[in-house]
Amino acid sequence: MLISEIFYSLQGEGSLVGVPSVFVRSSGCNLRCVWCDTPYASWNPTGQEMTMDQIIAEILPHPAQHVVLTGGEPMIAKGMHELAPQLRDLGKHITIETAGTIMPGGIACDLASLSPKLAHSTPRVENAGAWSARHERDRWQPDVIRAWIDHCDYQLKFVVRTLSDVEEIIALLDREKISVPAHKILLMPEGTDATVLQHSARQVAEWCKQFGFRYTPRLHIDLYGNTMGT
Ligand code: SF4
Repeated sequence: MLISEIFYSLQGEGSLVGVPSVFVRSSGCNLRCVWCDTPYASWNPTGQEMTMDQIIAEILPHPAQHVVLTGGEPMIAKGMHELAPQLRDLGKHITIETAGTIMPGGIACDLASLSPKLAHSTPRVENAGAWSARHERDRWQPDVIRAWIDHCDYQLKFVVRTLSDVEEIIALLDREKISVPAHKILLMPEGTDATVLQHSARQVAEWCKQFGFRYTPRLHIDLYGNTMGT
């Protein structure tokens, strides 16, 4: 499997924020978000090929029960369907951070952190070429979201910048009749700079109060800035 990085940190986003976790970041993604914060795993995928044994050998020394399979898009990584059950057999809690465009296919997972991409994520054709149309075609897959919701515990995490982003979420879920408790819909400010995030955080918090959604910070940005391995 092409691995971008494996590191030990605190979960920075979502319902398990603050939980010590080992992150396994596969390299490669089927989308090209304009504001992607891990371009080394999407726009310019780099990393090293690792076997299951090598990956597990890097995970086990850390004193964490939680493992986060992330990317890039971990669900397109060859070998992910073999790695997840091995981690389960080792007693690990598995979070899969996915954009929700690839079916779960029975994968071992305790928490699906689904992060569907809104219209503002689509790159311009001048900057992304054919990826612009491909991203726009693939970014929202309601049948896949439904399959994940039926498969395991989940959270729906959206990056939002404006009120119209929040309205887009409500319209999409309403149109597709995807009914989920409001507290499982998480709004996250966009940004990779702690100062910028602090500025937008209060606005996002107000939208959470207004619509009953849950707020998620980006703890790793607050603690470490936007650096690899955190
Ligand atoms: S889905 Fe995630 S990894 Fe892929 S381009 Fe978008 S933000 Fe980056």
